[in-house]
Amino acid sequence: MRRLRRAKIVATLGPASGNAEMIGRLFAAGADVFRINMSHTSHERMRELVGFIRAVEREQGRPVGILVDLQGPKLRLGTFGGGSAMVAKGASFTLDADTAPGDASRVHLPHPEILHAAKPGHTLLLDDGKVRLTVTAADDSKIVTRVEVGGKLSDRKGVSLPDTTVGFSALADKDRSDLGAALDTGVDWIALSFIQRPDDIAEAKKIIRGRAAVMAKIEKPQAVTRLAEILEITDALMVARGDLGVEMPLEKVPGVQKMMTRMARKAGKPVVVATQMLESMITSPVPTRAEVSDVATAIYEGADAVMLSAESAAGQYPVEAVATMNRIAEETESDPNYRSILTAQRTEPEATGADAIADAVRQIAETLSLSAIVCWTGSGSTGMRVARERPASPVIALSPKIETGRRLSLVWGVHCVVTEDAHDLDDMVLRACRIAFREGFAKAGDRVIIAAGVPLGTPGATNMLRIAFVGDDSEGDV
Ligand code: PEP
Repeated sequence: MRRLRRAKIVATLGPASGNAEMIGRLFAAGADVFRINMSHTSHERMRELVGFIRAVEREQGRPVGILVDLQGPKLRLGTFGGGSAMVAKGASFTLDADTAPGDASRVHLPHPEILHAAKPGHTLLLDDGKVRLTVTAADDSKIVTRVEVGGKLSDRKGVSLPDTTVGFSALADKDRSDLGAALDTGVDWIALSFIQRPDDIAEAKKIIRGRAAVMAKIEKPQAVTRLAEILEITDALMVARGDLGVEMPLEKVPGVQKMMTRMARKAGKPVVVATQMLESMITSPVPTRAEVSDVATAIYEGADAVMLSAESAAGQYPVEAVATMNRIAEETESDPNYRSILTAQRTEPEATGADAIADAVRQIAETLSLSAIVCWTGSGSTGMRVARERPASPVIALSPKIETGRRLSLVWGVHCVVTEDAHDLDDMVLRACRIAFREGFAKAGDRVIIAAGVPLGTPGATNMLRIAFVGDDSEGDV
């Protein structure tokens, strides 16, 4: 089974889709990676979902990725007497260390770190930005604010601080426990929410120790300003437009999305565009024209993946949402303008052997109209470097490790096949040709280009390319 598009689809699982039958249908409709959101999932349920996904993977014989999204340090208000209070525009409103129930003039803020970090002039956004406050005075026990946009506040609503860097870790106690359970279950990607700085990723990587790849969700302006450093350390990025649109003016989000997609492509790290892509499909079987255009824009920009959240997790049309995304991606990629828009953003290869080889295989494959680029890859790194070049020819990654195939299921254009390491150069060429034939990328008489590291099996040593004919005997065993 092969997809007829290069961009990948991430589908979030939830009450509308969290059973074995639906996961199979979502995969058949086009989902390449399944996301489990730990804000709404217990450990037991996470293990059950992973079991369903692995069963679909065995049935289909294709590596399927699992992304576990940690909740991160979600900040919340305390409670109000009677459950809620109206705060009025122009009034003074205080957030403090007093645990007594709140009213229209004050509320408990159970996060001493914020009391220490907020400064006069900073903005506080409550309940997804519906209420906006400006800090007028702050000390270690309270923050006094002026209400800029008033409204109703109720118990435990979320708090965002777009211009305050808070001195806490991106891993709360719940995240550490969720992370341990996810790693024990053997998931492929871990997404970190509300990161502020590169150290947040370093801290998670110390715990993860290579057992999963790490995706930095960019949803805070502080992280946007340190994107270059974050890209150096993370394995992938997510443009988390939901919270990003709360913490910065909505009209800035499209520009940030473009900047992030381009920077991630330049670094050769996967980038996922997320949130509200087909939002109206939560309740409607067809999307709006603007939503179709939004998905297409991400595809034209060369994003590795587009993501569904509530559409597939809690909507009425999860399968239709995945199928719609699949159709938009296929159609966009077959538009005559797609290649020129995509390649306009291609940057020079980095000065490494692997990147020089990746650039060369792309050029040769395009010049000679070869049927496929086949790369032997242990860790997945060669597959990713070839994907960075966004070649017109299909990319097949061959790896002895299923874990590599699962991670690569997120990466633009990479079709991964799990196969044992080649014994020698002849075996490497023969099996590359036979797999390209068997997977439907090449027919007898076609040529493919093969990239590999010699000696075979040496990590990070991509140093060889070879053009090979797919022979008449390609139906043989691999
Ligand atoms: C987002 O904010 O866009 C996002 C993907 O995060 P979550 O769904 O966890 O809020």
